[in-house]
Amino acid sequence: MIDVLLVLNTGSSSLKFEVFGYDRLDKLAKGKVTGIGTEARLSATIEETGATIDRPLSAHDHDTAMGAVIDLIDRFDDGWRTVATVHRIVHGGVDFVEPVFVTPAILIKLQALIPLAPLHQPYNLAGIAASDRLADAPDIACFDTAFHAGHDPLFQAIPVEKALRDKGIRRYGFHGISYEWISRVLAQEHPDLAEGRVVVGHLGNGASLCAMSNGRSVDTTMGMTALDGLPMGSRTGAIDPGVVTYMLRDLGLSVGEVERTLYEQSGLKGLSGLSNDVKTLIESSDPRAAFALDYFALKVAQHAAMMAVSMGGLDGFVFTAGIGENAPPVRDAILARLSFLQPFRTLVIPTNEERMMAIHGKALVERRARET
Ligand code: ADP
Repeated sequence: MIDVLLVLNTGSSSLKFEVFGYDRLDKLAKGKVTGIGTEARLSATIEETGATIDRPLSAHDHDTAMGAVIDLIDRFDDGWRTVATVHRIVHGGVDFVEPVFVTPAILIKLQALIPLAPLHQPYNLAGIAASDRLADAPDIACFDTAFHAGHDPLFQAIPVEKALRDKGIRRYGFHGISYEWISRVLAQEHPDLAEGRVVVGHLGNGASLCAMSNGRSVDTTMGMTALDGLPMGSRTGAIDPGVVTYMLRDLGLSVGEVERTLYEQSGLKGLSGLSNDVKTLIESSDPRAAFALDYFALKVAQHAAMMAVSMGGLDGFVFTAGIGENAPPVRDAILARLSFLQPFRTLVIPTNEERMMAIHGKALVERRARET
């Protein structure tokens, strides 16, 4: 019997998972269910044997998707025992500044944060509900906001009156699990830079920058929600807030339509009219694709300069996530616009949110074992 940790990242129509051996945190399996609710598929790789699976699946919700994942794990294991299920939770609000075991009371608090991440939090929580199928394994939540919890009040404030601030209107920041991983890698592999002032660009479908000083987050481009800051695959990033009231009052869009516009129809997709996908845009000869990529690089560079101000200088720029790791033309365009800030070092470091979550999961399980 091998003890394992099941790491889950549950989105609106997908459930990604990785299985780690508990003792050495070696990766045993990795896979995902995509197209939940529509044309679902299950794909997975079992690391030890190299066996792969890719097949259609009847998964009308997260619960049935989870059932398929558990069946798969059961079938491949020669006695895997899930010690804990570790969930990625996008929003921890003010209360959750480190990973926790999920209790019914904590679940209620996390549900109350749904309005702050309407397109992520409900599905993250659906993942916790679905893992009830693993009745003996406790649930652990890791928060994308937690790494930014120590920000100075100057970097947390949103300038509205106090009565509104008291209702939770402040900046939190996201992608913290990814930034924490990068901070670890920097400390281990580039200790001199880790002590300096580094902008980390988590540039994927969702995108943000972190101002990391001496390994800790001091500022970040996302704010109260995951809409702020950089333009993204289909999200606006920071825009004139007057655009929102104009859409609501003068163009007659409903709140739901505005929300969909801001989250799903904008950014690279909205600007290019072609795709949210950077690889597709790079390969396109359509001038609208080039324009959207130029805009993206400009905004990343502008925000990076802002992050440099927050740290009082810039010693390094780390690129990570899908675009950061794989799109040299985008990296070059960003760096060209930042060349006036030279000299600073440039690195590409693959993110590994799943392993970071497994490290947290193991630490929490060990702590509980020591305390009981
Ligand atoms: P998510 O936020 O969904 O996890 P990822 O970190 O996987 O996103 O990043 C997805 C983005 O990375 C997409 O825009 C995709 O086109 C881009 N990307 C991935 N591989 C490449 C590549 N080889 N060349 C250019 N862009 C790439």
